[in-house]
Amino acid sequence: MLDQPHDRTATASLRPLAGKAALVTGSTSGIGLGIARALALAGADVALNARGMVCEGGAMAKELAKETQARIDYVAGDMSDRNQVKAAVSEAERRFGRLDILVNNAGIQHVEPIDTFPDEKWDLVLAINLNSAFHTTKAALPGMKRRGFGCIVNISSAHGLIASPFKSAYVAAKHGLIGLTKVTALETAEHGITCNAICPGYVWTPLVQKQIPEQAKAHGLSEEDVIKKVLLKEQPNRKFATVDEIGALTVFLAGPGGASITGTALPVDGGWTAH
Ligand code: NAD
Repeated sequence: MLDQPHDRTATASLRPLAGKAALVTGSTSGIGLGIARALALAGADVALNARGMVCEGGAMAKELAKETQARIDYVAGDMSDRNQVKAAVSEAERRFGRLDILVNNAGIQHVEPIDTFPDEKWDLVLAINLNSAFHTTKAALPGMKRRGFGCIVNISSAHGLIASPFKSAYVAAKHGLIGLTKVTALETAEHGITCNAICPGYVWTPLVQKQIPEQAKAHGLSEEDVIKKVLLKEQPNRKFATVDEIGALTVFLAGPGGASITGTALPVDGGWTAH
């Protein structure tokens, strides 16, 4: 039958994700917070996550709930620790009674040439940016399959599609995340579950702001020149993308319009990867 009823049949509504529950890893700042806000404004219950203290995350959740009129909880969990990753998924599912939308966003960066790149930094970048997405996905899939609905969004990067020097661990992790996205999509396509990667170019967030001095050192440039000659050099629209744009795309993927989009890597990069 071609026109089977689908759980994404919510008609155009101001809150198209009402009744859905989401977990966004690494969501107390930057892109993760932007995605959490967008999902909440679309009506979803949202669990914020970071590895920080419960009281700080709880205060942020309270503030976001007030702003969006949605249910927001805070689930602490260090995404570099496999057991804490699994516990965070179970806790979000326990609190909401379901988990429909999983956004693997937590990520860190380290910029240094390979020959001096610290081993521990390699391990940490891979653990947070790649391994955690495997563990959250593995923990979330049984419930999603039972309910016949799921939307997994992996925040990869333009660096999941192309490379830049001095970012070996990050580029490897983000390429790997696109591979994981494709396998997840293939394994879940018949269960009403979609899995896609969003690949932002540069978005103005603390992660980017923090790497400007590191890039300046690695390239031997001033910080101002790093913005012009390194960060935005390859981004044809010469603008940073915004966290709201990434949030809006995530809402689209979780809503009715995203039902048949799966296994993709979607660049949000002002044309960078069109080169
Ligand atoms: P950010 O530094 O503002 O936010 C990172 C988030 O991850 C924070 O909420 C932080 O608390 C969380 N985090 C870090 N380590 C964690 C850990 N061990 N456990 C749990 N949470 C942890 O960075 P951002 O720019 O918002 O980046 C978010 C994601 O977007 C990352 O995966 C990043 O690689 C990706 N990305 C960012 C850009 C950009 O230009 N900003 C571009 C492409 C992809």
